[in-house]
Parts: sequence; structure tokens; C-alpha cells
Amino acid sequence: LLTIEGLWKNYRGHSVLRGIDLEVEPHEVVCLIGASGSGKSTLLRCVNLLETADDGTITLDGQEITDAKADPDDVRKRMGIVFQAFNLFPHMSVLDNITLAPRKVHKVGGKQAESQARDLLARFGLADKADAYPDQLSGGQQQRAAIIRALATQPRLMLLDEVTSALDPALVKEVLGIIRELKEGGMTMILTTHEMGFCREIADTVCFLDGGVLLERGTPEQIFTDPREPRTREFVRSVI
Ligand code: ATP
Ligand code: MG
Repeated sequence: LLTIEGLWKNYRGHSVLRGIDLEVEPHEVVCLIGASGSGKSTLLRCVNLLETADDGTITLDGQEITDAKADPDDVRKRMGIVFQAFNLFPHMSVLDNITLAPRKVHKVGGKQAESQARDLLARFGLADKADAYPDQLSGGQQQRAAIIRALATQPRLMLLDEVTSALDPALVKEVLGIIRELKEGGMTMILTTHEMGFCREIADTVCFLDGGVLLERGTPEQIFTDPREPRTREFVRSVI
């Protein structure tokens, strides 16, 4: 579904991604782990074309999206991205947040967009919050609403960057629950998390980034119990 080949990203002469190669299959859940500053967010931002790669290619569904002729808006229509915090528009109700992109970008009719949004809210336990404003929701509910908003455009791929790290431990669970449901529904995802237990449970493939290099990849079992690289072992030991 997604192929990344030889991806480099530099900031002012400093390389933060150094030749990343990554293949993501349909329905696969890839979890990126690595120390702060290792390049996890930058990689997700490159995939979403929020950053332009300095070298290398990214291909989505057979289309090279890093090609200068690719339309970033068209590419982003096929992906949902959720960040750590500040995801919702504060001046809009939950329902309006969710229906905005389907209506404006995907030209779905208002009634249809609303009924799809209400279905999603019901599916993820937020039916009674449709008319609430973001500041009337708990952090966990806000983040669930942000994930639902990203889902409303029926993306091919979800990119989730530390979606639980701004939350109290008690609220983390409800957000992890929604990601688990997405996996059960067959959604393809690339996510970063500091929740190693969750990573271990949900990932099909774990990728360890070290200084912008994708140093090691494997099943959660292999990465967490029998890493090949000393650097991976050191990292895993420090976070578990
Ligand atoms: P964390 O776990 O803290 O979220 P990360 O793995 O997501 O870290 P990135 O945010 O991808 O790391 O950052 C990788 C490197 O790129 C860091 O050294 C960071 O300082 C640098 N960087 C990121 N964005 C920019 C930017 N806009 N301008 C300059 N440097 C940047
Ligand atoms: Mg990050």
C-alpha cells in the first residue's frame, strides 16, 4: 500500500532522516519507536507531505506522491493524520469538526456527512457528544473525536503520532481502545507511541529509528525480546 525508498530529510545541513526504506502492506500496523529526536514524527510528516523529502520516493497505491506533479491535497485526502494534541477546531462542535473535511474537501452532501459522522460517533461511544464543543470534552474524548474526524474521510492509511502522550493514564485506555478497534476493522496504520505495552500488542511490525536511520525492524516479539542490534537492545531496556 505504501512504499518508502531511500528517504532523506535535512534541516539546515543536519540530516534527520537518513535513507529510510519501509514497506507497509494493506491492513498492516507499523509502530515506530526510538528516542526523542530520532525522526519518528518527521517520517510521518513526510508521508503526509507536510514536509518535503530531500531525496527518495514515497509511493501510495502505486502513485509516487513525492513526485513534483502529485497534488498534496489529493494525496492527503487518502490519509488521516492525528497528532499528540490540539487536533480539534475549538470554535466548532464535535459534529462540525467531523463533517468539515467530508463536506469541503470530498464534496459529500451535508445530510450524508452528518449521518456518517453520527454513525462513527456511535461506533466509538461519543454519540451524546455530537453537539458539544471540544473544551466540554475530556482529553481522551477530544482525542477520540480527533481520530473519528480523521476517519470520516475514509482514508486508506492512518498516521497516528503520539496520540496518547498528552493524556492522563486513565484516559489513555479509551484512546488505545479505539486504535485497537481500527486494527480489528483492517485499517492500515503507522503510529508512534511511548506506550511500549500497547505497541507490542497492536503492531504487526515494529521499526526502531536511531538518529534518522531505520536500524532494525521485526515482529514485536523479536524487537522486544531478542533485538539484534545493541542500540535497539539499549533502547528497549531503557523504556520497559
Ligand atoms: P519525539 O519522540 O520527541 O517526538 P521524534 O522521533 O518524533 O521525537 P522528530 O520530531 O522527527 O523526532 O525530530 C527529529 C529531528 O529533527 C530532531 O533533531 C528535531 O530537532 C529536528 N526537527 C524536527 N522538525 C524540525 C524543523 N521544523 N526544523 C528544524 N529541525 C527540526
Ligand atoms: Mg515526535
